[in-house]
Amino acid sequence: MADRYLSFAGTAPGRFLTRRLGLPRPAPLLRWSADRPVPDGGLLHLTAGTSGLDLAPVLARTGHAPYDTTGRPAAVVLDASGIRDVEGLAEVHAALHPVVRSVATSGRIVVLGAPLDPADHHQAAAQQALEGFTRSLAKETGGGRTVNLVRLTDARAAASTLCFLLSPKSAYVSGQVIEVGAHETAAPHASHDSDRPLAGRTALVTGAARGIGEAVAETLARDGAKVVVLDVPQAEEDARRVADRLGGIALPLDITAAGAGPRIARALPDGLDVLVHNAGITRDRRLVNMPADRWRSVLEVNLASVLRTTDALLAAGALKRGGRIVATASIAGIAGNAGQTNYAASKAGITGLVRSLAPHALAGHGVTVNAVAPGFIETKMTAAVPLLIREAGRRMNSLAQGGLPIDVAETTAWLAHPASGAVNGQVVRVCGQSLLGA
Ligand code: NAD
Repeated sequence: MADRYLSFAGTAPGRFLTRRLGLPRPAPLLRWSADRPVPDGGLLHLTAGTSGLDLAPVLARTGHAPYDTTGRPAAVVLDASGIRDVEGLAEVHAALHPVVRSVATSGRIVVLGAPLDPADHHQAAAQQALEGFTRSLAKETGGGRTVNLVRLTDARAAASTLCFLLSPKSAYVSGQVIEVGAHETAAPHASHDSDRPLAGRTALVTGAARGIGEAVAETLARDGAKVVVLDVPQAEEDARRVADRLGGIALPLDITAAGAGPRIARALPDGLDVLVHNAGITRDRRLVNMPADRWRSVLEVNLASVLRTTDALLAAGALKRGGRIVATASIAGIAGNAGQTNYAASKAGITGLVRSLAPHALAGHGVTVNAVAPGFIETKMTAAVPLLIREAGRRMNSLAQGGLPIDVAETTAWLAHPASGAVNGQVVRVCGQSLLGA
């Protein structure tokens, strides 16, 4: 369903009224397109403190030209990784205060920090301060601008993350803190085609006959993957339509069926590079009115089958080294939601799974495990939500609008990227910095 308020707010009377009445003022978000992968304006590279990061070669790969002081920068990177004490934080203010007003609409601000040092509470305090700073600035900037914090020690390992966060692909990701590990797990047979980084790889997306899953399959196919479109047998026709359009294959299978994992492994004898657990259902009721079958079915589809399939595919060696698992959590699992005790429990469970499995999967199988946590995304599911609740869901975030399936898909594609091997165990919200669970 179209967001009419967003269109109205962009008209002259809409701008006047929203300003006078203090109403949310959403700006149309700039999203990625092949003919304009990054907007004009250039990238401004600032440093606070003394940094040991070698950023220049990595920033050159983002596609942005260096900012040449004319016009408005489209992207700003503030390297604050070297700040070790409270006094150093003054340099954060000094660096960004003069430029924050000039950042282009839909511009990107990325703050770089360091992991907290357990042996130095002054460094930890200063570095943690960057988190509150980033989240607050993300709430102030408006105009479709986003602000995110990346904690890193090795610039090269963070290249795919910086490319994503500094591009229009991250239009609905704001106020996030992402930790990037020190060592990039080299993915074998990495594609040298930067436009099709997943060329030669196979990606399976569950629940891909429609909605977010369809967008994920489309985006991974755009990036070169051969996609396997898995959905329930009742949705086989839609799954085939999606698979045919993307040159992939359809796999009609209920993910909760006995032996679903081994059946996937048998259907893909050459193995799998990317596994996206996207299938999910809601069966909302307050706990007091919730029958056991509603509880069971949601936990079964959203969590138990994810655990079983993951275990089966890892045990069968079906996920190749350098493989990627991306599971779908939700902000409901972070904030909680009335009427969704079952759904929120299942989605919080995904977060637990990711955090616990990530180090083992990487060490034992060379596979990363991450989650996306969507906020309010415009799909058939959210179009069915009653008007006032839908409006609240759309506006209660820093970008004052709902996200699109493509926003979750782009985030998944970044996590699935062969160069994202140092991103592991992360739960990345795609929620426009929703106030829920913030
Ligand atoms: P959707 O209902 O449009 O699509 C879900 C797909 O999963 C459907 O095609 C469905 O047939 C399939 N599916 C359901 N049960 C299955 C099973 N047992 N086996 C195989 N396939 C099955 O939902 P969506 O809005 O696209 O959501 C996709 C994911 O994102 C879900 O995990 C959902 O919980 C999550 N999510 C969505 C939002 C949102 O705002 N739309 C917000 C947070 C999280």
